[in-house]
Amino acid sequence: MYRAGTPDAVPALRGVDLDVSPGECVALIGGNGSGKSTLAKHLNALLTPTSGAVRVDGIDTRDADRVWDVRQRVGMIFENPDDQLVAAIVEEDVAFGCENLGLPPAEIRARVDAALRLVGLEHLRRRPPHLLSGGQKQRVAIAGVLAMRPRCLVLDEATAMLDPRGQAEVMETALRLCRHEGLALVLITHAMEEAALADRVVVLADGRVALAGPPAEVFSRAEPLARLRIEPPPIARLARLLAASGLPLPPGILTVEQLVEALSPLGAAP
Ligand code: ADP
Ligand code: MG
Repeated sequence: MYRAGTPDAVPALRGVDLDVSPGECVALIGGNGSGKSTLAKHLNALLTPTSGAVRVDGIDTRDADRVWDVRQRVGMIFENPDDQLVAAIVEEDVAFGCENLGLPPAEIRARVDAALRLVGLEHLRRRPPHLLSGGQKQRVAIAGVLAMRPRCLVLDEATAMLDPRGQAEVMETALRLCRHEGLALVLITHAMEEAALADRVVVLADGRVALAGPPAEVFSRAEPLARLRIEPPPIARLARLLAASGLPLPPGILTVEQLVEALSPLGAAP
C-alpha cells in the first residue's frame, strides 16, 4: 500500500503471485505505473508490505531479522548504471556487497574473482568503473550481486539507458547466468524483443497480473494486449503481416531466428 493511512492510500499490488524457478527467466512487463518496480523492490525487501505478505524463498520479508537473508537471495540491478557504482576501481565495487555481509577477506577475493569471470570482466578489474561503457558498468553491478551468491537476479529496466551494444551485452550476460548457472531471472523490460526471450511473460496492469504465459501465447493475445497498450515484438508483427498476406507461417514467431527458420523451407529467406 502506498500512502498507507492517508485518504489517498492505494494498494500498489493486488494478489500477485510470482514463482520463478532456478534456471528460469520470467519477463515482467506492463505500462508505466503498473507496479513492476514496486514488485521488484518487494522481492528483495527494499519495500515491505503494509498489508498482505510477501514471501521470498519462504522468508516473510516483514521479518526484520532476515532482511539480509532476503537481499542475499535476490539481487537487484536498476536502470541507471551510474547509481550503482560505489567504489573507485572495479574489483572493489564488486566486493562491496560481500563486505557488507562481513565475509572473510580471502572468501571475498575468491568470490570477486569468480563473479568477474562470470560476467567476462576479469581484464578490467583494476579500471575505474566510471571509465567503462554503460553495458560494462551494468555487468560490474551484476558481478557485485553475483558475489553475494544470490538465487535470483532481478533486472529492473537494466538495459533502458544503454546503447544497442550495451543492451545486447547485459541481456547475453543475464541469460547465460540463468541458463548455465541456474540463476532465477526476473527481467523487467519495456523492450518486447527482450521479453520474447523469456520462458514466461507476466503482464502487470494496475498492480495485478493481467496476462501470463509463455511468450508465444501472451504475444498472440492481440486484443488484451491492445487494451493494455502493449505492442508485441516487431518480429511478431512482421510474421503476422506476412501470414496475413498468404505465407504459410506457423503462429508464435517472436524472434528473427524463428522467422528465418520458418521462411527457409519456403525459399523466401535471404
Ligand atoms: P512501474 O515500475 O511499473 O512503472 P511502479 O511500481 O513504479 O510502476 O509504480 C506503481 C504505482 O505505484 C504507480 O501508480 C506509482 O505512481 C505508485 N508509486 C510508486 N512509488 C510510489 C511512492 N514511493 N509513493 C507513492 N506512490 C508510488
Ligand atoms: Mg519501474
